[in-house]
Amino acid sequence: MSEKKKAVLGISLGTAANRLRKALLFSMAHRLKEDFCFRCGCQIETVDEFSVEHKESWQLSDNPVEAYFDLKNISFSHLGCNSRAAFRVKVYANKKERDAAGWPRRAARRAAKGSSSTTVSATCS
Ligand SMILES: [Zn+2]
Repeated sequence: MSEKKKAVLGISLGTAANRLRKALLFSMAHRLKEDFCFRCGCQIETVDEFSVEHKESWQLSDNPVEAYFDLKNISFSHLGCNSRAAFRVKVYANKKERDAAGWPRRAARRAAKGSSSTTVSATCS
């Protein structure tokens, strides 16, 4: 059965399902205006550059399972920004310190939401 689906899709059903879920998530993030990168604050313009990221490393958490599935620890980012950040894991002492570190990105995102996409493109290339 799955071999027939693979033959029809040209890829495995698991790969197709993951690709579909990512496209749906990106579409919804775009419609909700949540398609701004957690790392750089710029708009994520294509599904190919869209990634789901943990704000704080779940692997370094005291409770990795809880941190992995904690939706408050999830953000969206450019795949490139996410990958670059993976090599520079920053561990904050507490939530207050983490939130303070994210302030410039959130401010940029709020400014981008309130202006035209032309302005966003001008500040984010
Ligand atoms: Zn980015």
